Amino acid sequence: MTSPRRLTSRTPAPRRAAATRAFAAFLLAAATLGGAPARAQEAVLNLYSARHYPTDEALYSSFTKATGIRIQRVDADDAGILARLRAEGAASPADVILLVDAARLWRAEVDGMFRPVKSAVLEKAIPAHLRAKATDEGTAWFGLSTRARVLVYDKARVKREDVDTYEELAAPVNKGRVCTRSGAHPYNLSLFGAMVEHIGAPKTEAWLKGVVDNMARAPKGGDTDQIRAVASGECAVALTNTYYLARLMRSAKPEDQAVAARVGVVFPNQASWGTHLNIAGGAVARHAKNGAAAVRFLEYLASPEAQNHFANGNNEWPAAVGVSFDNPALKAMSGGSFKSELVPISRVGMNQVAVQQMLDRVGFR
Ligand code: FE
Repeated sequence: MTSPRRLTSRTPAPRRAAATRAFAAFLLAAATLGGAPARAQEAVLNLYSARHYPTDEALYSSFTKATGIRIQRVDADDAGILARLRAEGAASPADVILLVDAARLWRAEVDGMFRPVKSAVLEKAIPAHLRAKATDEGTAWFGLSTRARVLVYDKARVKREDVDTYEELAAPVNKGRVCTRSGAHPYNLSLFGAMVEHIGAPKTEAWLKGVVDNMARAPKGGDTDQIRAVASGECAVALTNTYYLARLMRSAKPEDQAVAARVGVVFPNQASWGTHLNIAGGAVARHAKNGAAAVRFLEYLASPEAQNHFANGNNEWPAAVGVSFDNPALKAMSGGSFKSELVPISRVGMNQVAVQQMLDRVGFR
């Protein structure tokens, strides 16, 4: 390959400009893997991400290394991203949007933030129940990693068989024992939305009322706070996403490891429909200027390499089929594998409006 310096030093001025242009075109072409010439605007991808996990940095740099496409990132929480997209409208520079939680993805889809995608790669990699319902235009969003919503309990005070289903959070035996974060948090809205799919709306509302009656304290804090509250004895059973527990298990701090060691973990409903799975997912922004690169990025996130990163770096389970991974904390807590629910995650997101009304009625703050 000729270096740009040699090229320009040996070429007369008029031809020099043309040669420089040709070289720039070559660089752009080299920046794409498939060999197809890239358009200039494909060299940078604007990513709006609500994933609050520092280990994701490595993912983005391997994508850039593999494709030459630089990622320009805007980090905000889900609400912040949606507000920004709304404010920017058609002028938005966003190409790809990553959100955590099915309820939020569904909301963004309904609000028209996404451009449906047709990708054989994504359709093959991501099971149908972990993505939006496909229309003639394509699929609005894809789950890219999953997190199980499990129960942690005080091994000293609670019998495992009293907390091995979600339903038992409302059982009389667990009176005064339950800690939870806000019912309106998307992680809970999605779990409760899944319950509606499994047992119907009336039974879900009665169950939520029972959970409120069993609370050890008013809802507060995040998932990690619930695990700590069980370990400290303030409550005896709580809901958490698995990666928060895995983070404590893998923490370098002895006090975190002690918290994790003090609690038992149950993957609920193994004898019935399986443990509730939530997702983190991605979509192409409605007004994306770099649509092709955006799809490519989503396809990369569904690749075995990226899926492994979600599992090993952030303690999530792969969403793509047939991906093996090695995470000692996930293996230890699940015993290697577990039964997960198969309800369409898009329906779970859709149920959040009805669920919020139930929460208001039963006083689940
Ligand atoms: Fe989280």
